[in-house]
Amino acid sequence: MPGFWNKQIERADLLAGEASGSKELLTFYAQLLRAQELVYESFRSRKNWLPSGHLESDLPVVQSLTSGLIKTAEIHGPEALAEEARLLLAAEPDVVANELLNYWHSPSDTQFFAKSILQPYMHWLAETRTAPVGRELAGGERTCPFCGGAPQVSFLQSKESGAESGNRDLLCATCLSSWAFRRVICASCGEERPAKLGYFHSPEFDHIRIEACDTCKHYIKGIDLTVLGLAVPLVDEIYAAPLDLWAREHGYTKIELNLVGL
Ligand SMILES: [Zn+2]
Ligand SMILES: [Zn+2]
Repeated sequence: MPGFWNKQIERADLLAGEASGSKELLTFYAQLLRAQELVYESFRSRKNWLPSGHLESDLPVVQSLTSGLIKTAEIHGPEALAEEARLLLAAEPDVVANELLNYWHSPSDTQFFAKSILQPYMHWLAETRTAPVGRELAGGERTCPFCGGAPQVSFLQSKESGAESGNRDLLCATCLSSWAFRRVICASCGEERPAKLGYFHSPEFDHIRIEACDTCKHYIKGIDLTVLGLAVPLVDEIYAAPLDLWAREHGYTKIELNLVGL
């Protein structure tokens, strides 16, 4: 899917232009997506090279492409991230290598740099159907069947024309591919009792809702493409940042923080 990054960037630019509480976040995210696209294009256009799926082996190539993205965070990121970027740019190469390997073996949504650098790498693995090796992640239907990553966002779309209600998919926070998932079930703990599952939305974001679970107290955002077909789940998820504040105030924890830290 060569147009993947462009689609995200165009949507982020458009939404950043609309007055809303998430304008700054989207402006930064649009720049970050551009840096990620460059990393991705460097993988794709690299001559005589295909990823092995083994990060230790691919590390020299991955690492050679990190500085542009780190500089983007230094220039466009919020102050704390910019400071972290300055330290990384001045650090020994081992420091960045260790961050990437740590994330690979035990991913965490607070490892901003490793997550944002490895997304284009993992996305390229997914597209070339190169299975990641050397990762022992829990697995199960609530994690990405390709890479074991946690879901970043859920979305509804109608797959058959004329279908009345959409099918639900989860989008992987690590490789950005998606997988089909049942509709009425918590994406974190698997709770299926409807009384334990809550949906909240505000008129400001008609096509976006919080999907919360009262059993594990986790939530994920759901983007309804049957309401707004132009929406791009990864980007619209950030656009609806005010809903994260609402969820947090009500005691819910997000399954996976997005790249702007919400
Ligand atoms: Zn994945
Ligand atoms: Zn749950």
